Amino acid sequence: MVHKVKCVNCGNEGASLMVSGKLLCPRCSRNEVLHRVRKNMSKTGINLRKQSIIIAYPEFYKEVGELLSSMMTKLCLQCDLNIKNIITENYNRINLTIRSLILRLNQEEEKIVVLPFTADFFEAYLIYSSSELENSYLSLFSLVNRVGDKLFLLPLYNTPLTEMMGFSELTGELKTGDEVFDAIFLWLHDSFKDNEVFHTFPPSIQVISSRFSRCKMCGALIKDGEYCKLCSKEISPGH
Ligand SMILES: [Zn+2]
Ligand SMILES: [Zn+2]
Repeated sequence: MVHKVKCVNCGNEGASLMVSGKLLCPRCSRNEVLHRVRKNMSKTGINLRKQSIIIAYPEFYKEVGELLSSMMTKLCLQCDLNIKNIITENYNRINLTIRSLILRLNQEEEKIVVLPFTADFFEAYLIYSSSELENSYLSLFSLVNRVGDKLFLLPLYNTPLTEMMGFSELTGELKTGDEVFDAIFLWLHDSFKDNEVFHTFPPSIQVISSRFSRCKMCGALIKDGEYCKLCSKEISPGH
């Protein structure tokens, strides 16, 4: 019976979540995720003291975005961190949703933007984008990314939602509004109950995106030139 299983960390009964390969109780699993976020943030080398940051996400990532806001505050209570949340619309194409999120941030003065994208999102997105890597935002898969004058930080890029289910505010669902993406996301979670799959695939994304350049305006992968298809259309004279 599941509730009799002991947490390998604290020894209490009720271990139900596999996080970092360890079977943990909900409380320890939350600590483990928070610990990973803290470690990632310190790897970025950014001093959060009196810093103004943006946490930006499309509607469909609202639950995780809000949780990430509270995590960022907890990371450094003395930092007096100033957090602004920017939420953008979902479109029925995931690439449009991400692009409009990134371009929306041009209106903001803050240079540091924290994004809530998780490892399982990127795995689904890799499968989704495999027939057209160009113009995709696989370029975002990394702890730190620069697009234009913004520095994007993704402290959850190596954590799937399935490892975060110890947070009762999360349902674990993502409904992006892109039917194809949503079907792939569901299929992945139904087919692979083992969280390890979400830790083993990521290096391939970085290898793939290293073969491409990035659009100077929105950061999408491009083969050559300076801008992606959509951005070059928008900045061409006569538009
Ligand atoms: Zn525990
Ligand atoms: Zn672009």
